[in-house]
Amino acid sequence: MKVVIAMMQHETNTFSLLPTSLDAFSRVVGLQKPPSDKQAIDLYGDADMAFAGLLDIARSYDVEYVVPIAAYSEPSGIVDDDAFNFICKKICNAVKDGCDAVLLDLHGAMVTESYDDGEGELLRRIRKTAPEIPVAVALDFHANVTSTMVENCNVIDGYRTYPHIDMRETGKRAAKSLINCLKQGIETKICWQPLPMMTHMMMQATWHQPMKDIMELAIEGEYNTDILNASVFGGFSYADIPHVSLSVLTVEPVKNHLGKGLVGQICAMAWERRYDFIYTPLPLSESIEKAKKIKSHPVLIVDHGDNTGSGGSADDMSVLDEMLRQGLTGIIVAPVRDPEAVDQLINCGEGNEMTLTIGGKYSVPSINQIGHGLNCKGIVKKVTDGCFTITSPVQTGLKVCLGRTVVFDIGSAIIVISEEGWEPYGPELFIHAGLIPEESQFMLIKSRVHFRAGFESITNKIIMAAGPGVCSSDYSQFNFSQLPKPMFPFDKKMKLEKYNFL
Ligand SMILES: [Zn+2]
Repeated sequence: MKVVIAMMQHETNTFSLLPTSLDAFSRVVGLQKPPSDKQAIDLYGDADMAFAGLLDIARSYDVEYVVPIAAYSEPSGIVDDDAFNFICKKICNAVKDGCDAVLLDLHGAMVTESYDDGEGELLRRIRKTAPEIPVAVALDFHANVTSTMVENCNVIDGYRTYPHIDMRETGKRAAKSLINCLKQGIETKICWQPLPMMTHMMMQATWHQPMKDIMELAIEGEYNTDILNASVFGGFSYADIPHVSLSVLTVEPVKNHLGKGLVGQICAMAWERRYDFIYTPLPLSESIEKAKKIKSHPVLIVDHGDNTGSGGSADDMSVLDEMLRQGLTGIIVAPVRDPEAVDQLINCGEGNEMTLTIGGKYSVPSINQIGHGLNCKGIVKKVTDGCFTITSPVQTGLKVCLGRTVVFDIGSAIIVISEEGWEPYGPELFIHAGLIPEESQFMLIKSRVHFRAGFESITNKIIMAAGPGVCSSDYSQFNFSQLPKPMFPFDKKMKLEKYNFL
């Protein structure tokens, strides 16, 4: 048996102006274009990513495999057509060359210039290339799943955790189902139900309610029946497209009829809890006032409005500005994305003093937000290559390269500035920069939920800070013109009469 294994990972924030061309799909690992074959396997084959799980299963079943491309990008704006077509062509050509199955690591929330459902279009092209070849897909928990995706593959499985600490396991589950079915001659069917509800991403953590019970119901349903895969997708909200949803999906042998019941049960629970998914952010100044009163340390301040992991520019300085305005000191910050400032500071040289504006280079016209930079004077403490290996539980083992990186000391705060943006899941970047998180009074990062995997254990207190940005937690700021109507929570009185599981 021979399989094609590939990765195309991008979560598209359609409100973000950050461009997403082909080089975005390799920059985070320090390459000019997405790797393939041995290079892809060396970079991603032993990290906690679905791609590695697909490889694990191919190897354990002694299946021959080829890797035409492994394209991974941090979230950003709409993917350009050239990049999307390049990736699709690589995968379709490998399929055309002959294989018995296709195993894919996809995100599920990719929007391109021409398609609001990038993954659906890729799967449609694969099916058109080889209509009889079965396809298994591992998806992110934040996938906005579509009927095109469901109709054009045989197995789908999604991460069961947010923070995502089971990516590799998800790849294994997806690949195992498909290869087992192929070996036994079993045909699969997918039951899928999207719900017209936008769950707030701040309330999607699977360690906490309301999502915890919903995910557990899916997992138990899979363990206790002949259902092969059961997934809950929280959906990705920062996308003005017609198919944002929470959805539930099962895969089972075609002769079975258990999936529909389980999907209905899970959907009923999610809908019943819809009000629990609403999140109201505290005003920024009040969050910082709360942080200021905490005497123990370190206090972790989490700016969730400008998070790279949701498409943020990672260069809005409003939260740090507010912390300085309120007189906080002993702050360490990482990372701020600002290639221009990096350049200026490297030219200034280690040990030298400079006054400049950091960040604020990106505005967000869709929500009438002007980029907010920080004018400050400080000393260049250190210059690094920005490369380190993730040791905390999300994407463990992945070597990340954020480009040239500068550690800049402005007195009350030490700021780590990089050429690339990145959502810190754990303290690796601070440590890489020579900073000791435990000794700081305040750590400031840009994240939303993923940080909990690597920071909770080294943090005394966590304060969520609603900074402005393209992933602002105030959803009322965004003009969602493409969403289906009605949609909860925008239409709170809506009913779901046509859904027979309620
Ligand atoms: Zn995700």
